[in-house]
Amino acid sequence: MAEKVIVIGSGPAGWAAAIYAARAALEPLVFEGAITFENQMSGTLPLGQLALTTEVENYPGFPFGDLEAYLDSAVDAAQRKIMAPHAKEGVSGTELMELMRQQAKNSGARIITRDIVKVDFTGNPSQGQPFVLSDSDGQTHEALSVIVATGARANYLGMESEETYRNRGVSACAVCDGALPRFRNKHLAVIGGGDSAVEEADYLSKFASTVYIVHRRDELRASKVMARRAMDNPKIEILWNRVPHEILGTETDGVTAIRLKSTADEADIEKEVSGVFLAIGHTPNTVFLGDSLELTAKKYVNWTRPGRTMTSVAGVFAAGDVADDYYRQAVTAAGSGCMAALDCERWLGAKGL
Ligand code: NAP
Repeated sequence: MAEKVIVIGSGPAGWAAAIYAARAALEPLVFEGAITFENQMSGTLPLGQLALTTEVENYPGFPFGDLEAYLDSAVDAAQRKIMAPHAKEGVSGTELMELMRQQAKNSGARIITRDIVKVDFTGNPSQGQPFVLSDSDGQTHEALSVIVATGARANYLGMESEETYRNRGVSACAVCDGALPRFRNKHLAVIGGGDSAVEEADYLSKFASTVYIVHRRDELRASKVMARRAMDNPKIEILWNRVPHEILGTETDGVTAIRLKSTADEADIEKEVSGVFLAIGHTPNTVFLGDSLELTAKKYVNWTRPGRTMTSVAGVFAAGDVADDYYRQAVTAAGSGCMAALDCERWLGAKGL
């Protein structure tokens, strides 16, 4: 028998969709993703991007407070020690995602730890032809509706040293990590020359003593107004025609410096920094969709109705970063997950499914 709704993805959008769908008695089945080396390397493990960050201080509902008792039962002790040294002052990304997952389970969602690798949306559920999803174990699953919440992944440069210091000074989210004590009154580097790089540098300049924008060309890609913001900020210094060569650091301190090579035939330079923030774009996790859904030019799922979560296929909804290259926040993703579940519930109801 076909599932009423299958949720694909396990970031804030996926869990919010699952919680709302479960509470609407839709008995959602969630594919949270497989735990594989490939997914680890590409940043697409279960629980999404948030589980790759350290503390989350901007998610409403997690102020200072003692969350220890609940978290002790949900998160491996060793991981908490690494991920949440300041647990009393907020919540770590891993903890927040474990809590969302637990909440979905408590609400009645069923969870399968596999990827969906292929979809067939050619059916018409209201005429007795469900959608068909294939998982990474070679099994197929039928569904009357689907919520796609597979997120996006930040692009990294692919350097070994970047991997070594990830979450110990290397981050791809200034808004998530920038206010951490390790970055305060320190020199920081932002890699990239687009609007995100300027926005992140501007944000980081509130905490840092200097923010270097490292850009591979001699002109920013960012819009004029954003570029002006970077030029006018006395704490921001742009290092033109430069790309990272190596991130340097120590076991105890994490990142301590960055070595930059020139794209204009100059000698390498080294800058003392405590943090390196990548802002070289994101890639939505939409490859598994093939051409079954309309995508934007940047390969994000296209929301076909403004402010709603409908896609180009009736009965298939999208939520979170997989359909949003602009806000990309945990709270906006969770909000759109809720919206997708409500849209889905109403669609199923209207079709009498
Ligand atoms: P983006 O516009 O694609 O810029 C990516 C930047 O990273 C470019 O400057 C690019 O260099 C650089 N880059 C890419 N790969 C690199 C590599 N391997 N090594 C070194 N540098 C590399 O991405 P984005 O800044 O994230 O912006 C995405 C979209 O969101 C844009 O449409 C943007 O306007 C929008 N956005 C808007 C705002 C705002 O209005 N407040 C804020 C954030 C984002 P090149 O320039 O040489 O290609």
